[in-house]
Amino acid sequence: MNQKMSIGLWVITSGACGLVYFAFLFDTSVYAGNGIRVNNLGLMQDRQLGLIVSALIVAVGAIVIFLSQKNEARQGPSAAPANPSNTNWSKERNLGSDEYQIYLVKKYGIEKNDVLGKFIAEGKSYESVADALTAAHAKDVDSEAAHQEAVNNDLSEPHPDTHVKCPDCKGLVRKEATKCRHCGCRLTPQKF
Ligand SMILES: [Zn+2]
Repeated sequence: MNQKMSIGLWVITSGACGLVYFAFLFDTSVYAGNGIRVNNLGLMQDRQLGLIVSALIVAVGAIVIFLSQKNEARQGPSAAPANPSNTNWSKERNLGSDEYQIYLVKKYGIEKNDVLGKFIAEGKSYESVADALTAAHAKDVDSEAAHQEAVNNDLSEPHPDTHVKCPDCKGLVRKEATKCRHCGCRLTPQKF
């Protein structure tokens, strides 16, 4: 629950308290003498106003909660790329560094199997955590190289057979691209 949502709940609660107060506890009667109580028109109007204001406060709280949930939904997917460390290592690959070890452990799911007394990473077993880390390191270096190659291929000389102009920014993009790599606009992949 985020801050806006708790504020919204608090506002709704206050509004609800107001509603209860004006609906059930607010006395609109006054003594008319001789022990008789009569409803006072002015107090009845106050009560009506109080009910309306309380209902508005409840509505405001509901809107705040609604907006906070919408914000959360919008922030949800965009929060994922904020942590790219899970997919790529940008610093020096030093197997002695804790940070790099943690990155490898997370990415390759390295864990100790108590039954075998061995370390498991991606379906293979290793005698020691160092072995598992070394294997993961080798694999990560390979995948990084493959990734780099793919990037290089993408940046290779644009050719009329393979590239089209982005309708938005006029940059050259691959025909099968679904998204322009210059401006990020959506593209319809062209197959032929
Ligand atoms: Zn573009």
